[in-house]
Amino acid sequence: MAYQPELIGGHVALDLLNTISWRLDPSRTIDRIATPEALAIWCAAVGLSGSDGQLERVVAVREVVYGAVLPIAREMKAGDLAELQRPLVGALERATPTGARPLDWVGADLVDELVMAAGRLVEREDLGRLRECQDSGCGWLFLDRSKNGSRRWCSSGDCGNRARARRHYQRLHPGTGVLS
Ligand SMILES: [Zn+2]
Repeated sequence: MAYQPELIGGHVALDLLNTISWRLDPSRTIDRIATPEALAIWCAAVGLSGSDGQLERVVAVREVVYGAVLPIAREMKAGDLAELQRPLVGALERATPTGARPLDWVGADLVDELVMAAGRLVEREDLGRLRECQDSGCGWLFLDRSKNGSRRWCSSGDCGNRARARRHYQRLHPGTGVLS
């Protein structure tokens, strides 16, 4: 089946990070944009273009963004923003201003767009709402836009369902190990 990106991050920079599934469980980790075709599908899904020949750079910048953002999600402490700063400065140098409001910049290419999206994430979003899915292997990140800020799972139909099934199983079979 063709790749169908799940855009649950609430921000394109987070959806970029979430192109890796099961990041925290190396036995299951899958890079969903491992081919140029998959990258093109993901780009179309988030409204970006120009992915030809960019796969390696996108993958590299994805890890830079992850290094900057993960510590914020885990402990509200900025990660390696210096690593992000360098590509961000370059992207802004090459960018052109949008002519209409909201005023912003248009990146020179796909990677610049992604880098600037990460910049917007750390500058403009309410990072108190940045969360990491509570499934131990998932590793997906999202902005919790729920009213009471209580979202715990990337997707309640996915990781949330598994957690519910586990609790249910343990209630029925007390004293048994954890279902995985
Ligand atoms: Zn999850």
